[in-house]
Amino acid sequence: MTRRGEFEQIAALFAPLTRGDPAALGLRDDAAVLTVPPGRQIVITTDAIVAGVHYLPDDPPDLVARKLVRVNLSDLAAMGAEPVGLFAACAFPRTCTDAWAEAFARGLGEDGEAFSVPILGGDTVATPGPAVFSLTALGTLPTGQALRRAGAAAGDLLAVTGTLGDGAFGLRAARGELDGGLDAESVAWLADRYRLPQPRLGMGVALRGIASAAMDVSDGLLQDLGHLCRASGVGAEVTVGTLPIAPAVAALQGRDDWLEVVAGGGDDYELLIAVPPHRRDALLAAGQAAGVAVTVIGHCTAQTGVRLRGADGALIEGLGQGFRHF
Ligand SMILES: [Mg+2]
Repeated sequence: MTRRGEFEQIAALFAPLTRGDPAALGLRDDAAVLTVPPGRQIVITTDAIVAGVHYLPDDPPDLVARKLVRVNLSDLAAMGAEPVGLFAACAFPRTCTDAWAEAFARGLGEDGEAFSVPILGGDTVATPGPAVFSLTALGTLPTGQALRRAGAAAGDLLAVTGTLGDGAFGLRAARGELDGGLDAESVAWLADRYRLPQPRLGMGVALRGIASAAMDVSDGLLQDLGHLCRASGVGAEVTVGTLPIAPAVAALQGRDDWLEVVAGGGDDYELLIAVPPHRRDALLAAGQAAGVAVTVIGHCTAQTGVRLRGADGALIEGLGQGFRHF
C-alpha cells in the first residue's frame, strides 16, 4: 500500500474541507489569517483523542472524525459561541492506510458540511505510536457575552437540553453489551447517540443574556454539575424524577446501575444551564427557538455540594461521580 506524503495528503484530503473560506488561504501558507468582526471575541477550544483510549482502533474512521468535531463544537456551544473554523492536527500511525486517512477526512468534511464549519489549517505527521488526533475549534460571540461556569446563584433553576444517559448506555450498546436486553432498534439508536452526539450550537447562542452559567455535560451530570457549582460557589439539588430520559434508556430502568449510569455516565454532550427563576420562560422560549427540548431538573442552593433526591424526597447517597479521565 503506497502512502501519500504530507503535502500530497494535505492537498488531497484537507484542502477540499476549507469550504472555500478565504481565511484558510487554501492551506498553502504558513498559517491561517482570520478577520474578527468588530465587537466580537474569539472563543477557542481543543480536544485530542488517542486510538485505543478514546476510541476503538476498529471504529469506523469517518465516525471517529465526526465525533471529534462534535465534541469540540459542543464546547463552543457551551460558551454560547458560533463556530468559525477548525484546525486539525493528525498523527497517523505508519501502519495507517490511505483508505483509513481518506475516510477520516471524509468524516471531517461531512460534519464540516453539517455544521457549516471549514477546516482552516492543521498538520499531519506520521507516528510510530497509536493514532492521535487533536482538533481546535474557533468560534466568535459578542464581546462580554460568553456563557461561563461561574455565575450561578442560589435559587437559580438548573436545566438540561435533550436527554441524559444516552451516551453512557450508547457506549454499552456500541460494545454489544445491551444485545438481548433491548430491542435492536433501541440498541442502534443508543449506539448512534454515543458515536454522533449533537452539539447544541443554536441553544448556546439562544442562551446568551439568559443563562447565569452553562457548560456541556461530557463527564456525567453529577460530576459536571459539581464543576459548575464549584465555579459558581453554590451547591445544587436535583430531583431524579425530573431527569429527561429517552425511551431507549427508560426501557433499561430495571438495571441495578441505571441511575448511576444516567446521572454519572458520560458522553451526553447536552448543555447544563443555570438561569435565574424569573428567566424560566425565556429559557423555555430559547429551547423552542433552537428546536431543543429543555427540562428543569433542580435548582442551585447556598449549601455547597450536589444532592440528588428521589421521588419520595429522600436524598440518594453513594452514587458514582462520573467518568474520570485520570
Ligand atoms: Mg466541555
